[in-house]
Amino acid sequence: MTGALRAVFLDVGGPIYDDENFVAAVLGALDALRAADGVGPVDRAAFRTIYDEVRSAQGGSLRGALASAFLGSRSRRAELHAETRRRWVHPAGTLYPDVLPFLRALDGRVRVGILANQEAAVIAALERDGVAPYIDVWGVSAVVGHEKPSPELFEWALAEAGVTADEAVHIGNRLDTDVRPAAALGLGTVWVLRGEAPPVPTAAQLAEPDLAVPGLDGLAPALFALQAGRA
Ligand SMILES: [Mg+2]
Repeated sequence: MTGALRAVFLDVGGPIYDDENFVAAVLGALDALRAADGVGPVDRAAFRTIYDEVRSAQGGSLRGALASAFLGSRSRRAELHAETRRRWVHPAGTLYPDVLPFLRALDGRVRVGILANQEAAVIAALERDGVAPYIDVWGVSAVVGHEKPSPELFEWALAEAGVTADEAVHIGNRLDTDVRPAAALGLGTVWVLRGEAPPVPTAAQLAEPDLAVPGLDGLAPALFALQAGRA
């Protein structure tokens, strides 16, 4: 038996900030590593082909595929990861415009948490953009020390919010790191179809989350309706 909705958790890349911020970081990292190898920048169209394949699959390692295609070996993925982390920022102007209206609609009704694989610098970006005052739980992987899809980050966030899984909903844009691990623990799931979500999701993919939405507009009432339906 599921009770009232008491907590809403949000992934950052996709739901809150444009995933193109990550794309810019990974392209900058690839170009720098290639320059050090004495070769030219990554072909952008070839990059988009691989990026779209990994988005469509909703699984597998993007960094592994990119290292294999553009750095000569899949074994260079850790190097690519380190170079990407240094470049990954969320510039002003990349917050989705539906974020603050959504958070205002939830304000005072539920606990709200960040639940994301992000660097600690994301906190300063969320403060700059006026999101931080709405956040009760800061589940930022680089700070907490656990990464999605590991259940530990979800369990940490639930404990911090003081709620059980059946009282919470997780909103994310990936099946492999958001929807599936959240559903496995018993949270409600919302799949936001932007950024790293597939360009064209299949019917089978769309059937995985409790709710699939194009963005956060009008989502607050839909969350309470979803929770009522889970009860
Ligand atoms: Mg994401």
